[in-house]
Formats: sequence, structure tokens, C-alpha cells
Amino acid sequence: MSHIYQPVMIKVLLENGGVAHKKTIAQSILSYDFSQVEYYEGITNNMVGRILRKNEIAKKDKNIYTLNDYESLSSGEVQELIALCDLKISDYISKRGNQIWEHRRRNRKAVSGSIRYEVLKRADGRCELCGISKEEKALEVDHIVPKNNGGEDSIDNYQALCYTCNANKRDTDETDFRDLDVKYDERKSDCIFCNTTRNIVAENELALAFFDKYPVTPKHVLIIPKRHCADYFELSQPEINAINRLTHSLKEKLTSEDHNITGFNIGFNVGEDAGQTVFHCHMHLIPRRLKDVENPVGGVRNVVAGKGDYKQY
Ligand code: 5GP
Ligand code: ZN
Repeated sequence: MSHIYQPVMIKVLLENGGVAHKKTIAQSILSYDFSQVEYYEGITNNMVGRILRKNEIAKKDKNIYTLNDYESLSSGEVQELIALCDLKISDYISKRGNQIWEHRRRNRKAVSGSIRYEVLKRADGRCELCGISKEEKALEVDHIVPKNNGGEDSIDNYQALCYTCNANKRDTDETDFRDLDVKYDERKSDCIFCNTTRNIVAENELALAFFDKYPVTPKHVLIIPKRHCADYFELSQPEINAINRLTHSLKEKLTSEDHNITGFNIGFNVGEDAGQTVFHCHMHLIPRRLKDVENPVGGVRNVVAGKGDYKQY
């Protein structure tokens, strides 16, 4: 069996006389999902536990919580208090209903099965932030730029995130995402690449590609983040993903338009000493063709003249 799900489900069925509701099976799977348990341990410590301690209702010793004065309660009082808690819980649920968990459900319904499949396939079945595989943690489809911040329902604005990365992202919604949105909107009025509107060959939510004005070879393309930033090391992971996606689609486009293209040089110049002349991050996608130079050996190694062919040393 490739995953814990199957033995857990079979066990639930066996324990219930061979029949179980999907909710019972899901609850049992949940009890084994340590990433979710960890998440709620965080909530216990940082939200509810903190308040109960502050109000002297409970105390904590290492990882153990104790209800203050529990010993002084009669069993009848314990039952009464449990009933009171049940009442409070059902009151809250009847007032707020599904809204209580709405923030955790977000995006799920909006993404169709086939798009979800495409996103997971593109991510190679791994979380695009931490890299964990879908066999180890459930992956969810997430909007890179959140919908309520104007992010589109397009495949380029989706990424696959594991449950934990997505939960952490959601928890920072109120604060970080407003900054993030501002960050992705950043443009510099005196930057030529921020103001490029001509020769655009492809774009997605976070990146843009256009032909180089002084091409090294025909159809030399520059791929840039839409946000103004100086170089590769300032890119966020979603921007790296966006640039990577454009690189792949442009490879298909350029090679189908020009059958003489048989290779590429791909690269970023970072810093003046490395030859960067425009300080809005950009990736060069340089098509190569048979015999376009006399000796192509070493490719990008030729950025330092004479160092291309290491076998000549
Ligand atoms: P860097 O030397 O910074 O890695 O690359 C800058 C690139 O931008 C060069 O390949 C250059 O040809 C290209 N470039 C410079 N000015 C313009 C422009 O106004 N429009 C376009 N499309 N490319 C430009
Ligand atoms: Zn710029």
C-alpha cells in the first residue's frame, strides 16, 4: 500500500462491521495527519491555551494542560460543565454555521478537477514551497496572488502547496498578503523594463517576456518579473515559478516557429561586475542554431573570454 490512507480506511471499515460513512473515515484519517495535529497544537498553545492561562482557568507544565481546581469539582459539576461547553459549541455552530471554517475551505471549490490536475502535474506532485511530495502530505491548489487582492482565476496564478505551507500562508493573510500585493505591484517609473509594452511575446500573472532590442541571436528573448526588482536573488518563489513556466512555453513556441533552433543558452547576469546593464531582473533566453558560431563549446562559460573550452586548459 502506497499510503497510510488505505490501511486506515480498511481498519475503520473493519471496526464498524464493514460499513462506514465517509465522514467517519475522513475523521479517522485526520487523527493520523500529524501536520494537522501540529497545526492545532499551535492554535492550542498560542490562541486558546494562552487565554485560558491568562484568565487562570488552566495551567501548563511542559506540554500538559491542567484545569485549575479540577479536584474540587464533583462529578455532577463536571457533567454540568461539559453540557455547558456542548451548549456553547452548538450555539456557535448554529450562529456561524460553515463560516467558522470558511477560511480553511477557501479556493477549494473554485478550482475545477481538470485545472487541479494540471497544476499538480506541473508541480510534479510536489509542494512548490517546501518540495514535499503528494504521497507524504496532501497538496492543495492555491492562488499565488489571492483572489480578494485581484489575483486571477488563471492557471498561471495557481500553485500547488502542501497542507502545512498553505495553512501557514492563510494564517498570515491579514498581514503579509497586503504587503505581498503591494510588492507585486511595484513598478519604477524610470525603469525601461517596468515600462516595456512593445514586443511582448508572452506573459502570465507575475512574469513577462519580450524580444531583446539588440539580440545576440535571432529571437533572443528576455523574461522578467513584472514587479521591479534588481536581480535573480530578489525573486520570490512564485516569480521563479512564473519565469520558469514562461521559459517552457517559449521554448515550445520558438522551436515550433523556427525549426533551425536546436539549443538555448539561458542565464541571468547579476551585478555590474558580472555584466548586468539593466537593473530590472531579467533572464536571457538565447536560441542557438547549428554553426551559429564557429566553436560553441562551453556556451555560457564564454562570458569570460577564452574560458569556454575547459579541455583546452
Ligand atoms: P544585461 O546586460 O543587463 O544582462 O541585459 C540587458 C539586455 O537588455 C541586453 O541584452 C540589451 O540588448 C537589452 N536591452 C537594452 N535596452 C533595451 C530596450 O530598450 N528594449 C529591449 N527590448 N531590450 C533592451
Ligand atoms: Zn523595473
